[in-house]
Amino acid sequence: MEYIDLHTHSSCSDGTLRPAEVVDWAATSGLKVMALTDHDTMAGVAAALARGREKGVEVVPGVELSVRHGATAVHLLGYWLQPDDSGLQQRLQRIQAARQERNQQILAKLNRLGIALRMADLRKISATGQIGRPHIARLLVARGVVRDVNQAFAIYLRRGGVAYAERRRFEAGEAIAAIHRAGGISVLAHPGQLDSSPAIISGLLIALKAQGLAGVEACYPSHSSRFTATLKRLARELDLVVTGGSDFHGEVRPGPPAGLTGAVFRVPYQLYEIMKEKRRMSLGKEFK
Ligand code: AMP
Ligand code: FE
Ligand code: FE
Ligand code: ZN
Repeated sequence: MEYIDLHTHSSCSDGTLRPAEVVDWAATSGLKVMALTDHDTMAGVAAALARGREKGVEVVPGVELSVRHGATAVHLLGYWLQPDDSGLQQRLQRIQAARQERNQQILAKLNRLGIALRMADLRKISATGQIGRPHIARLLVARGVVRDVNQAFAIYLRRGGVAYAERRRFEAGEAIAAIHRAGGISVLAHPGQLDSSPAIISGLLIALKAQGLAGVEACYPSHSSRFTATLKRLARELDLVVTGGSDFHGEVRPGPPAGLTGAVFRVPYQLYEIMKEKRRMSLGKEFK
């Protein structure tokens, strides 16, 4: 059996390995295909593609966008986008600006709580520039304020945490359209992080599908086999493709955690072929 991983992060966002090293990890793990899906940036894609050619791993250019659907914050995965598409680039730049603003707000809240962290210290923690809550978490650990990254989120950084700040987000439909215009297809990431109720997820998928969503990440380490089966059924009913990935972040989230069943997390290659077919069809519709 051959396997794939369509959800990975490098140090261009909040992973700990450089893009080429993520590809090395994929090669060592025996993966045939991997997608690099950094948060809000495609800066690592070129290096990953180059290493993929060297190592014989098919690398899919991707991105993970944090967007909103009404009041709900959802993560969208985009695949096969042209990294240099100008509409996409503009959007990514606006997201980076929103991140900057939000990082300042989080630091200000921490300062008011008597925890003095400076932007300059944060920049040192982020190898390639993009800063997010995981970097703030690592700095809190390094300063001995918390025991580990999980505790940093639990107390300070999670939504509702004492130093949490919201950031401006694009509406999901807008992001789906932008991904499509850049030549890509979009997939709802890890629905299990949103809700475990099939009725709620089904409603969300129907709404997003009407806006152009192409697939759903049914295979994800924290999804139970029962929840994965539900998502696969919904995908069939709604004509969405099923994808899967580990959300690899390097050392901070080493190897996929064993799923609720205790089985090793693996995504079969066959899903990728179905996904490619979906993309071919969606491009055909666009350019005919
Ligand atoms: P941001 O993009 O700055 O909003 O940060 C979100 C990222 O933080 C997610 O993509 C995860 O990688 C990470 N994250 C969220 N919650 C936790 C947690 N409890 N423990 C560790 N990492 C987390
Ligand atoms: Fe992340
Ligand atoms: Fe995510
Ligand atoms: Zn992710």
